[in-house]
Formats: sequence, structure tokens, C-alpha cells
Amino acid sequence: MEMDTIAAISTPMGEGAIGIVRISGDQAVAIADIVYKGTKSLQDVDTHTINYGHIVDPKSGDTIEEVMVSVLRAPKTYTKEDIIEINCHGGLISVNRVLQLILSHGARLAEPGEFTKRAFLHGRIDLSQAEAVMDLIRAKTDRAMNVAINQVEGKLSQRIQTLRQSLLETVASVEVNIDYPEYDAEEMTLELIKERGSEVREGIERLLLTAHQGKILREGLSTVIIGRPNVGKSSLLNSLVHENKAIVTDIPGTTRDVIEEYVNVRGVPLKLLDTAGIRETEDIVERLGVERSRKLVNEAELVLLVLNYNEELSDADRELFELVSSNDMIVIVNKVDLEQRLDLSRVQELAGRNPVVSTSLLQDEGVDELEEAIRALFFEGDLDAGDMSYVSNSRHIALLQQAKQAIEDALEATHGGMPIDMVQIDITKAWELLGEVIGDTVQESLIDQLFSQFCLGK
Ligand code: GDP
Ligand code: ZN
Repeated sequence: MEMDTIAAISTPMGEGAIGIVRISGDQAVAIADIVYKGTKSLQDVDTHTINYGHIVDPKSGDTIEEVMVSVLRAPKTYTKEDIIEINCHGGLISVNRVLQLILSHGARLAEPGEFTKRAFLHGRIDLSQAEAVMDLIRAKTDRAMNVAINQVEGKLSQRIQTLRQSLLETVASVEVNIDYPEYDAEEMTLELIKERGSEVREGIERLLLTAHQGKILREGLSTVIIGRPNVGKSSLLNSLVHENKAIVTDIPGTTRDVIEEYVNVRGVPLKLLDTAGIRETEDIVERLGVERSRKLVNEAELVLLVLNYNEELSDADRELFELVSSNDMIVIVNKVDLEQRLDLSRVQELAGRNPVVSTSLLQDEGVDELEEAIRALFFEGDLDAGDMSYVSNSRHIALLQQAKQAIEDALEATHGGMPIDMVQIDITKAWELLGEVIGDTVQESLIDQLFSQFCLGK
């Protein structure tokens, strides 16, 4: 595959400062060498070495930046091409100047995701891994990071390969049946299709089961805190934010929104909505009315409804319960250090099957129980997140659902006494759909579309 040499600014994961110009392609070393001054020419240094020197504009002779340059020769590189990484320690401006210099000496500015696209096109990674890189760039929590890493390591690919292999063997045996009808293996073949088909369907179902959680892990469980004025919403927000490592992202372009705040509660990433509103005004419900709460509740996947133990249940409280009736909810009865005026059995009734937790946020009591309730709500009775390769990508989910449908059609057909080659069509379709998840049967346009979503420099 003939490809030109590309360059972009690349932000290393886990390190804050922007500082790497990455170049990939046949001419990467030669181009870098034009603007690099060190004890040795980059053409002469060993592969996978880091070299200290300066970037100098050959026209003006100006020194632009003091740098460490990594020389990584093909094929043991991310793109399987020669790669140069120029680590600049100056700010964004000097990194940009280095990039401009590289671009004016023969490299082309990389499109978003083009490095990863090359890795894919050179067979270094498959499509699901490439997409996982994209998720990794966006991952907001440790757990989301693990999911993405599992995918990068190919766990999803492995699972899907196993399912496809099983389908392939089934199709092969159908072929034998069609080609050598005298064996009269039809009965056996139908049995095999039923058995394998059901196994594969279960495999797909297991993957799909993780999809919803995968999405939440990636994007955060959108959560609102509601309650009448003065019940303790701000106190709750503060204790959630302070007790838990607020999730800091240093992903370019995701400057933390003042309106949303991320916290990691026992592995569940909460995206707290409208925290600015809670902090700013003591009277959000009173001032902006139930309408505002309704809008927030509609956006939320989890509602934390705060009540005051020290006051009787009011109409406003009841109205809030009504608002939340279709959401997952945790009811927090706060201020239990004060005298009881709230009818708890009535609260439990209104809460229905949703958990009710008592707290005294003033005395820092009950917060553990609340966190446990959040964790349980999310991970309740389920797969261990540690070694599960979640499906967290909507394209994958759609393909898996279609593949599952195709298997179901095939199984249906075996019961309906359809000719065996009809059954084969469905199985082949399922095989192809699964293949699309890992990029085995995708067309060029789909690839382009996928990779254009990547961040620059990855
Ligand atoms: P918000 O209006 O719902 O945001 O409520 P705040 O969090 O601002 O709290 C209102 C008042 O109640 C503040 O003076 C808090 O210190 C107090 N408060 C919060 N939690 C408790 C608690 O558990 N017990 C007591 N006694 N006071 C609390
Ligand atoms: Zn407040």
C-alpha cells in the first residue's frame, strides 16, 4: 500500500500537556532530519531510540524548540510505518511551529484518526480495536478506560471470532449436505444448525446484555438531584463530589462543563446534571417551578430525590414523586439528626420499589449507604465488570441485533422445514454481520466514515 507521510499534534493519554508532533510514513525520518539538529543524524540512529536535540528552521537558522525525538522504524510501530515523535516541552505555540515546519518539508497534515486508520489498513489492528481507540480517547472514568482497553486488546474480537467460526463450520456442513446429497446427512445437519445456532444466539445475547452498561460507563449515568429548597441538595452534591475523586478529563476539546460534573461512585460514573443550578440557587424548585425539574428529570437516567426528615411531606414533595415515577430513583431522607416529622412509611409507599436511604449530610452519616445503593442499582446481580468485554458502541449494538435476528430466522426456518439452503442464507448473513463488527467485511466508505470521527493525531 502506497501512502504519503502524515503529521499531526498528538496528545499522549494520561499526560496533561500537549506536546508531541507525530509523523508517520516512508519519509518520516528524512523529513524530521531536515529540521533536527543533534549529535547524530536521525537517519543514523537505531530504531526505537530517543534522541536529544533541537528543532531548527533550516531557512532562517532559528532554533525553535529543544526536543526529544523518538525514532521508531517500521514495522514495529503503531501504524506499521516509520514513526517519528517529536516531544516538545514548550507550550502549544511552539508545538504548532514545529508541526508547521514539518508540514512545509513534505509531510501532509493527518486527517482525524488517520494514524489509527493506517494501523487498521496495515492489519495492525482490526476495526473493533480501532473503534476502541476512539472510545479510549473519550473514556471518562477508570472503568470506562478498562472497557476500552479490553476492546483494544481484542477481547470483543476474540468473542466474535469464536461465534463466527461456529457459524462457518455450520455453513460448511450445510455445503457438504448440498454437494453430497447421497449422504443423506440432512437430519444431522439440521440438528447441528439448531444446536450451533442457539449457542451463537446466546453468545450474541450475552454481548448485547453488556451494551447498556457499556454506554453508561462510557458516557456517565446522567443523574439529577431534586428536592424542595433547603432539604440538603447542595450538601449532597458537595459530599458526592468531595468523597469521590471528581473525574478530571484532559482530553482535548472536553473542557469541563460547569453545568455537568462527573464523579466516580464505586465504579459508577455519575454525570451530575445542572450542578450549577443547585449551587447557585437555593430555590430551584420554588423559583423555576416544577417545570424546570420536569425538564431535568426527563434528561436523567437516575434521580436522587431529597426529603427533609424534619418536615412533614408537602404537596411539592408529592409532586416531585409524581415527576420521577418513570425514572430510576433513590430517595434520600436527610437531616435524620433532627427531630422526626416525616412519615417514613408514607415515603416508603411513594418510593415503591426504589431504595430509600437515610442521611445526615451535616454529620456525614449515611453517605456510604447511599453510595452502595447507587452501586447496587447499576451493577446489581451482574457480570463482573473487571473482565467483561463490554459492547459499548452503537454501531456494534446495531450489528449484533441484526445478527441475532438472522440467527433467529435461521432457527425458525429449521423448524418450519424450509430447504436447507434457505437456512444457509440466514446463517451466512449472521456471519457477515458479525464480521462487520470486527471489520472483516466492511466497505471502504464505512471505514472512511468511522475514522473521520477520531481525534486528530491518533
Ligand atoms: P438545598 O437548598 O437543598 O441545596 O440545601 P442545602 O444543602 O443548601 O442545605 C440547607 C441547609 O440545611 C444548610 O444550612 C445545611 O447546612 C443544612 N443541612 C444539610 N444537611 C443537613 C443535615 O443532615 N442535618 C442538618 N441538621 N442540617 C443539614
Ligand atoms: Zn443549596
